[in-house]
Amino acid sequence: MSDPAALSRLPAVDAVLRLPDADALAGEHGRQRLATAVRDELAQARARVRAGGEVPTAAEVLDDARTRLDSAAARRVRRVVNATGVVVHTNLGRAPLSDAARRAVTEALGYATVEYDLDTGERGSRTGHLGDLAAELCGTEAATTVNNGAAGLLLVLAALAGGREVVVSRGELIEIGGSFRLPDVMTMAGVRLVEVGTTNRTRPDDYRDAIGPDTALLLKVHRSNFRQVGFTREVTTAELAAIGRAASIPVVHDTGSGLIHDVADGPLAAFADEPPARRALADGADVVVFSGDKLLGGPQAGIVAGRRALVDRCARHPLARALRIDKLQRAALEATLLAHLRNAVPTDVPSVAMLTADPDALRARAEALAARVRGQLGDRLAVDDLAGASSSDVPHGRPRLRVEPTDGVVGGGALPGTTLPSWGLVIDGVDPDRLAARLRHGEVPVVCRIERDRVIADVRTVASDDEQELVAMLVAALG
Ligand SMILES: *Cc1c(COP(=O)(O)O)cnc(C)c1O
Repeated sequence: MSDPAALSRLPAVDAVLRLPDADALAGEHGRQRLATAVRDELAQARARVRAGGEVPTAAEVLDDARTRLDSAAARRVRRVVNATGVVVHTNLGRAPLSDAARRAVTEALGYATVEYDLDTGERGSRTGHLGDLAAELCGTEAATTVNNGAAGLLLVLAALAGGREVVVSRGELIEIGGSFRLPDVMTMAGVRLVEVGTTNRTRPDDYRDAIGPDTALLLKVHRSNFRQVGFTREVTTAELAAIGRAASIPVVHDTGSGLIHDVADGPLAAFADEPPARRALADGADVVVFSGDKLLGGPQAGIVAGRRALVDRCARHPLARALRIDKLQRAALEATLLAHLRNAVPTDVPSVAMLTADPDALRARAEALAARVRGQLGDRLAVDDLAGASSSDVPHGRPRLRVEPTDGVVGGGALPGTTLPSWGLVIDGVDPDRLAARLRHGEVPVVCRIERDRVIADVRTVASDDEQELVAMLVAALG
């Protein structure tokens, strides 16, 4: 039962804040925030005391306030080791930047020539040089850049078709995720959607028949995150471009992933289903739109490339100012585009290297990492004498570590259903959810996959800079 006198024994806020340890905590988090945390803790303590609980001391209240403030601080954006095998992991920041891009970002952190021309000493263009690089890479006349791919599409629609009609196949009215649905985006951009064809089949005549005096654009949208199989018919970019040319209506292709070159027989052959920006333009699209941080491997950005007159209309539209990239994106994107200009498959761009990594090399890395973990844990790991046994044969208790083939994926809503043959450190014999949670809460959080009750650390997405941490965190979590 609650003791009415107990409430009066609760420490006062001031008494907690006068404790010697409070000063350091106030220095770290701010006195105002510490006072708020102490008040919140005291409110909870009051409720507990009313329910018959113990009266905490001032030191205990301060400790609880520290825990509250620390766990809030831990929610800041933090580096993680991505051991999921998902290369373009949207929740983990999509593409990791190259060393060159990181250096460029570092240089741009202070004052920088973001919109300044050193030759004239006057105002320069934020996206001019960047646009030139993107246009060169795409083999087209002009390009401009905005904050992300979704913004690129919004800008193109508003600038090239505001107040008028845009024709789209019913099979391409996609949802990209995060409530970005094409029909809604069109409404936001102030354009009228004219749907043609059916979910599975759209023919060239469907577009031709839909064209009227108010048609401003023919839009093709890549179905990035799902696949259609069976009785289907899609109008190709080349077919659509011919229709657009005949009617003098521009054709825009949202290619999505930022693949640039045809990859049919190169190390990126697994991505043959993605439309390369260069091919879309060569096939006659007047403008392409794509992301900077998917297969391109750069920062979050949207690239709009194509005919100069159309790109200029986009760049001059008032929305372009609201959707502009910041100086850090600009720096990182310039470095990334330069890497792609030097090399069609730039393996100095980490996500490109991860996507093209050779399975045999991944196996060797996985074996080497496993050997380091085994070397440090010794007999705290179960002896692997059950090769080929299923996880259910291993009683929970001592963890067992093996190296096995796994399936990596591209991620980022690109290439659904395509897996990349990979290798991973596979751990069973322990509660997989608890182990995965321990790994997430290590000094450097490690994010793994759980499959069939086993924790899998896929090495495809573990950068060589992350190997040290992966080993240390596995040893700490398993030891
Ligand atoms: C990913 C994607 C977008 C959105 O790009 P973000 O950079 O994520 O904003 C738009 N269209 C397609 C086809 C996409 O695949």
